[in-house]
Amino acid sequence: MSVETRTKPSLTDAQPGELIRLENVTKRFGANTVLDDLNFTVDPGKHVTLIGPSGSGKTTILRLLMTLTKPDEGTITVDGEQLFPAPEKQVREVRKKIGMVFQQFNLFPNMSVLRNITEAPVQVLGMSKDEAEERARELLELVGLSDKCDAKPTRLSGGQQQRVAIARALAMRPRVLLLDEVTSALDPELVAGVLDLLRDIARSTDITMLCVTHEMGFARDISDQVLMFDGGRVIESGSPEKIFTEPEQDRTREFLSAVL
Ligand code: ADP
Repeated sequence: MSVETRTKPSLTDAQPGELIRLENVTKRFGANTVLDDLNFTVDPGKHVTLIGPSGSGKTTILRLLMTLTKPDEGTITVDGEQLFPAPEKQVREVRKKIGMVFQQFNLFPNMSVLRNITEAPVQVLGMSKDEAEERARELLELVGLSDKCDAKPTRLSGGQQQRVAIARALAMRPRVLLLDEVTSALDPELVAGVLDLLRDIARSTDITMLCVTHEMGFARDISDQVLMFDGGRVIESGSPEKIFTEPEQDRTREFLSAVL
């Protein structure tokens, strides 16, 4: 006997175990087709890295998942619920499952570090101020900034600001953490510390990560899967061992020899 397991009308045919599904996603900016009929899925707890030349559409994927921009065609599903297309109320709910850390930190400059972290849990999740602060202090300990609760972000180094941004994203208890070239804006001596923190988070939590990075050593360390983009399509995917040591596509080889 077959049992109908779909209970929510908004469910797509996301397979059990899939956390993110992009199906036939196309995104254009004017005449520029930035994502071209893209399909991929990410399983829960996996760390997937998007690599490829500048302009190949990697950041656009993260921005679609953050609902900062919309696809022209296709469907996006997160944790079994459609993010696009979907009614506004559903988008707001699904969005709560996704956190993002940006290249430029994007902290609120006029709020203390603690308030930067508690603001969204209180305002968006309706968490009590006490609970949000307790959680924020735990997260600041995790990112090594327990002594900076009351500081304003502008008084911190870029590396410290990025740690606060990571804590802020985690404060929402997201299922998925999107990382968009999070070390690109940092002074070189601050990069390793932030990458080590992310390695720790990848190792010690069950959070799913989708990362755009030019740090190939980091990508190799943390990824379960690497997707190589070119011209708005995934031209090759596989384990980091496969992609970094025996890629099938000439384009992947060329890209890697230029960046490694
Ligand atoms: P990547 O992250 O791989 O470097 P992006 O996703 O940032 O690539 O950009 C892909 C393409 O989309 C680029 O050609 C870029 O110029 C274009 N693009 C991105 N955002 C916009 C926008 N808001 N308006 C117009 N073009 C954009």
